[in-house]
Amino acid sequence: MDTHTTAATDGQPAVLPVDACDFTVFGGTGDLALRKLLPALYLRDRDGQLPDGFRVIGVSRATIDDDGYRSLVAGALREHVLPTDLDQHVVDRLLARLHYVTLDVEDVTAWHRLHDRLKDGAASEDVTRVFYLAVAPGLFGTICERLDQVGLATEHARVVLEKPLGTDLATARAVNEAVGRVFDESSIFRIDHYLGKESVQNLLVTRFANTFLEPLWNSRWVDHVQITVAESIGVGERGSYYDRSGALRDMVQNHLLQLLCLVAMEPPTYVDRETVRDEKLKVLQALRPMTPELVDRDTVAGQYGPGLCAGEPVRSYADEVGHPTSTETFVALRTEVQNWRWAGVPFYLRTGKRLPERVSEIVVVFKEPPHAMFPHSEGTTEANRLHIRVQPDEGMRLHMTAKEPGPGGIRLRPVSLDLSYATAFGARSPDAYERLLMDVVRGNTTLFMRRDEVEAAWTWVAPILDRWSQPSHTPRRYPAGTHGPVAAATLLERDGRSWQETE
Ligand code: NAP
Repeated sequence: MDTHTTAATDGQPAVLPVDACDFTVFGGTGDLALRKLLPALYLRDRDGQLPDGFRVIGVSRATIDDDGYRSLVAGALREHVLPTDLDQHVVDRLLARLHYVTLDVEDVTAWHRLHDRLKDGAASEDVTRVFYLAVAPGLFGTICERLDQVGLATEHARVVLEKPLGTDLATARAVNEAVGRVFDESSIFRIDHYLGKESVQNLLVTRFANTFLEPLWNSRWVDHVQITVAESIGVGERGSYYDRSGALRDMVQNHLLQLLCLVAMEPPTYVDRETVRDEKLKVLQALRPMTPELVDRDTVAGQYGPGLCAGEPVRSYADEVGHPTSTETFVALRTEVQNWRWAGVPFYLRTGKRLPERVSEIVVVFKEPPHAMFPHSEGTTEANRLHIRVQPDEGMRLHMTAKEPGPGGIRLRPVSLDLSYATAFGARSPDAYERLLMDVVRGNTTLFMRRDEVEAAWTWVAPILDRWSQPSHTPRRYPAGTHGPVAAATLLERDGRSWQETE
């Protein structure tokens, strides 16, 4: 993985600027653009990564001009960037880079406006053009087709696709085919923002830039792996979208399976674009296929009822969306990676809304020591566990057993070695989008999902979707603010294990 940093100057690594670029955001007035993309570009600009000639072009149907767009973005920066990170000089510099084009992408006759704007004042004829599709996926095909028709889908163009990439295998293929008719796979960047998180990238570094873990990273020493992505919020404003999706499509098919891939993949020759993606694909292809019997036995769907969150009463999911529904807001499942390294090691995945806290964590639980060496000691030994905290407080914690200091026999105590990024590096942990947007500009696809990965993930979840779509299937209720349905705990208890709740 190239880091694109130079030697530290004042304690912070200096960043290398990217090349000039015309960065077009379709849906430039939407929530994703204003809450995530523009703040990320601002922070990259503040750190000196955007060169002169880097332009950002917002596109939507709203009839505003450049100044109107600049006011909108200025407001968004005030709202979504920490006051301590806001520097008016940099805000003004970013605003000066902004342009706006009013365009209904479905209106064939209006596309010349975007074409003319991009041609006018471009840094060079062959400037890199990024087209970020922060719009509904139903518009992806149309936008790509029009970009091609107006001559903007050149060899220097890149297209960025946001989730959801389809709602099942067939629709994902349709999106991929529509985009693939215009853009080469090497120019298509399918974002999974989990892959841009520092701790997730550090998982690769921890595994492959150190020697001590790799000999233990297999079925001989690992008892099982747990991956949890928990949210404390409900569906809020996203009710109508979420109710058509559910936790399996929204979280498991992409984020959780991507995390599983990074834990389970074989070491690539280099951490480089295709090699990493090749290895992740092999993991997806090695997942134990779900049969109807396995779906019934090894998966749990849940939906939150009313409950208490942070001491406040909250409504049920059905009340939030306004009607009775069988959409799941919680998934727990057990799977295995059927290859030499992982044969027989369960991977337990869990995600849900209205859980007690917002936390994403991977826990690798090692086997107990093969022989009890301290029969006369006090205290207990616990299996070693490596907790990789993806969010919040990114870092790692290794649980081990130590001798309590003092004479008079051996007393065993569980202790932990903690690595908090914030403490160890004293640096702000950049948002995943900051990293990923710069990778798009550089053309580095390592942290983006390739078409075959997305389709392999949909292929694996398809039998679960099928089974859960039957009328007899209803998600189990859990009170908001709890760890999900009882059946999620039973899934592990039946194997003699339990979920590692955060401490
Ligand atoms: P949003 O707030 O509804 O914004 C949609 C944007 O698309 C608006 O700027 C809208 O502006 C524009 N738009 C809609 N139809 C258009 C058309 N025909 N021509 C040109 N522009 C059009 O949605 P969002 O939350 O930003 O999400 C955008 C996409 O990203 C969705 O697919 C969503 O699922 C995905 N996503 C969002 C987030 C997030 O955090 N928000 C996270 C992950 C993925 P006008 O109405 O003025 O045209």
